[in-house]
Amino acid sequence: MRAGIGVDSHRLAPGRRLVIGGVEIPSERGLEGHSDADVLAHAISDALLGAAGLGDIGEHFPDSDERWRDADSIGLLEQVVAMVASAGFAIVNVDCTVMIESPKLAPHREAIRERLAHALRIDAQRVSVKATSGERMGFIGRGEGVGAVAVASLSDA
Ligand code: MG
Repeated sequence: MRAGIGVDSHRLAPGRRLVIGGVEIPSERGLEGHSDADVLAHAISDALLGAAGLGDIGEHFPDSDERWRDADSIGLLEQVVAMVASAGFAIVNVDCTVMIESPKLAPHREAIRERLAHALRIDAQRVSVKATSGERMGFIGRGEGVGAVAVASLSDA
């Protein structure tokens, strides 16, 4: 068994889409970044790469590369899943927490879980998506940005 952790955060800005775990959430502000800035897809990608000892997403998909401009991060996650499989690992489970003040994630949690499970090619029962607010403290709580933390465990395929 191997475990990996991934952490990411992105700034909230007007005129951007809010995409979390591959699901677009209605919001006046969205996440700013070179790709679609899907903070959760990025954290999970790093957790998988970490567990497999394969580096991080900044190394595989650098934001200096125009190929990844406005990239669909679920597509990047799918590439990571393929890398992990090629390295001889199977994904056992993924657990994650999104840190967001607003909008509330609860109504979208099941859709995010299903979307991620599809990208990870595992049963949704092996994917856990949680959300917490920042209690109005720090950059999360002031609504300046959104954070995500993910843990992935792998076994030999
Ligand atoms: Mg990111």
